[in-house]
Amino acid sequence: EAGMRLNKYIANSGVCSRRDADIYISAGNVRVNGEVVTEMGYKVKLTDEVKFDGRKITPDQKEYVLLNKPSGFYVTGSLERNNRTVMDLVANASKSKLSPVGKLDTSTMGLLLFTNDGTLAKNLATPKQGIRQLYHVELNKNLDQIDLEKIREGVTLEDGKVNIDDVSYVDNQPKRQVGVELKSTRPHIVQRLFKKLGYEVVRLDRVVYGGLTKKDLPRGNYRHLSKQEVINLG
Ligand code: URA
Repeated sequence: EAGMRLNKYIANSGVCSRRDADIYISAGNVRVNGEVVTEMGYKVKLTDEVKFDGRKITPDQKEYVLLNKPSGFYVTGSLERNNRTVMDLVANASKSKLSPVGKLDTSTMGLLLFTNDGTLAKNLATPKQGIRQLYHVELNKNLDQIDLEKIREGVTLEDGKVNIDDVSYVDNQPKRQVGVELKSTRPHIVQRLFKKLGYEVVRLDRVVYGGLTKKDLPRGNYRHLSKQEVINLG
């Protein structure tokens, strides 16, 4: 018989594990086309509407969530339990298990994408494709014109040359405020770049990620991407 087993359908929708799905099914939490179904072997057809606790669910729905990360939140899970992570901030964004695409340092703020779309995540996080990122950098002192030129030409770090798409002073701001555009996903790349030239990064904000900007997204908040935005990400 064609169709997907109901417990698998529920698990693939990110609601719970397949084993827990069996429990919920027998407890009557699941309706198919409006009727409670307690039969675990039920095969879900394409035209069926499945509801879990009254909410329509669909398996393998791809989700894309954009967070404006505040400083002080870890991106990778830390061993210390009391550390705040970005997962705390997007906990209510989806029933599906979302993962961050790439990393930001704990002190870094700005745009961070989350998804359950493994293929896209992999493409974006590999340097091969690379994604356009603009960082607003605040330094501990004004950036000399000569150092700006050095960055433009490409500073060489221990793991190779840093290719920059653009670097410039931020308009109408002290020359400690710099915009850096690059595609690199190398760890701590911006921090290391300025350190090499004798500067300290005191504030780092990723303000553009691909075609996405922070517009209308307050710090600490997230939003779901539109279909068009997902397409634009490639
Ligand atoms: N470069 C850094 O140094 N840190 C980040 O978080 C991102 C880019």
